[in-house]
Amino acid sequence: MTVSIQRTGCYALVLGVCLGRKPDCLTVWYPEELGGTGLTKAIYPGSFDPVTLGHLDLIRRSSTLFDSLVVAVTNNRVKQPLFTLEERVAMLQEVTADIEGVQVDSFSGLLVDYARSKGAQIVLRGLRAISDFEYEFQMALTNRKIDPVVNTVFMMPSEEFSYLSSSIIREIASLGGDVTPFVPAPVVEKLRQKFPG
Ligand code: ADP
Repeated sequence: MTVSIQRTGCYALVLGVCLGRKPDCLTVWYPEELGGTGLTKAIYPGSFDPVTLGHLDLIRRSSTLFDSLVVAVTNNRVKQPLFTLEERVAMLQEVTADIEGVQVDSFSGLLVDYARSKGAQIVLRGLRAISDFEYEFQMALTNRKIDPVVNTVFMMPSEEFSYLSSSIIREIASLGGDVTPFVPAPVVEKLRQKFPG
């Protein structure tokens, strides 16, 4: 069985599924008013407090799927972060510098407004386990209700990173544990500075 996906013009996605005979094609037409640039630009929003090897795995995987990817650090006033917004952006810039098509930015306010301002119609989120699903499901559908143009795409990291979270990393580091297997090298150093001794 072969599956082919192609874009025709800016507004149509043609998904042909061939089962060894003439392909049956499912065509989904997107109305012109929904817009379309012909280029796929995705936003990967998150706290990234700090960026982990799980985040990085997702960024690398998705950078091959989209023409450009904006990793957008949220300036979330509800959560009290360990790293400042500037520190989180700087760490992400450093560890994604070698990945083509990836930019790092920050934003506050509604994600859908930010996505629109960037001309992006795709929001990328990671799914690690069932426990992520409920929150992500709620967010994705709420965002789509607010702005129907914006669709959320979920990706799974490599299984070796599927249990990682920034909060676990912060906890290990605060207790003097070794975080080398879980975060990029520059982040190990930054965590040492936050929790000296
Ligand atoms: P947020 O506070 O928005 O959840 P996070 O930085 O914790 O910010 O996560 C940002 C996104 O990255 C979320 O979609 C989350 O599911 C995903 N993510 C976090 N850790 C991992 C991981 N280890 N592997 C894959 N995706 C992850």
